[in-house]
Amino acid sequence: MRVLLVEDEPDLGAAIKRTLTQQKYLVDWVIDGTDAWAYLESSWTQYTLAIFDWMLPGMSGLELCKKLRYQKNPLPVLMLTAKDSMEDKVAGLDAGADDYLVKPFGMAELLARLRALQRRSPQFQPQQLTVGYLTLDYGSSTVVCQNATGDKQALSLTNKEFQLLEYFMKHPNQIVTTEQVRNQLWEVSAEPISNVVAAQMRLLRRKLASSGCGNPIETLHGMGYRLNLTHESK
Ligand code: CA
Repeated sequence: MRVLLVEDEPDLGAAIKRTLTQQKYLVDWVIDGTDAWAYLESSWTQYTLAIFDWMLPGMSGLELCKKLRYQKNPLPVLMLTAKDSMEDKVAGLDAGADDYLVKPFGMAELLARLRALQRRSPQFQPQQLTVGYLTLDYGSSTVVCQNATGDKQALSLTNKEFQLLEYFMKHPNQIVTTEQVRNQLWEVSAEPISNVVAAQMRLLRRKLASSGCGNPIETLHGMGYRLNLTHESK
């Protein structure tokens, strides 16, 4: 789940990003409304949710919301603001925000609001994702693997391993390039490290192999990777 966070207060932005990252969200954090709009225009479909502060340099959160909805863009938006008058709330909701959180707020409340938005969203995130013999559990960050003899084994995954496997499970039997994986799973501002995908892939494969499920992710030389979930392919 990728979130666009637009917040210009450094401490608050960092705290939100840290909290969401711990909860397995992937967070692109920008501080300027104009930059945020550039992200949204070019690649909004990769986001599950957006969090806009109201007062921002460049373009306000309210304007961002209005522009999104003017384009009939359904991305769920949570507005953050110090404004708590009824008129301001109405203005935020009229602009197309889905929910509204008044500063200061606790991180537990922020997470609860985001979960509620996801439940209402068309890109609703289920508790589990099952593809072939692999089941990802979002609550426990585990993957359950059912091997050829029917035995099930649960493995704990790190955030990055979880995101990586989730990406493959959402694109089964498709060729996925290293570039696609990096763009999807690493933040836009992250340093481009050429081996980072390969290194993460090794860790994930080692873990999957330890469960007795072999190596379901094939390397297609010069092309990328492919999740192949027929047991025969091992
Ligand atoms: Ca602000």
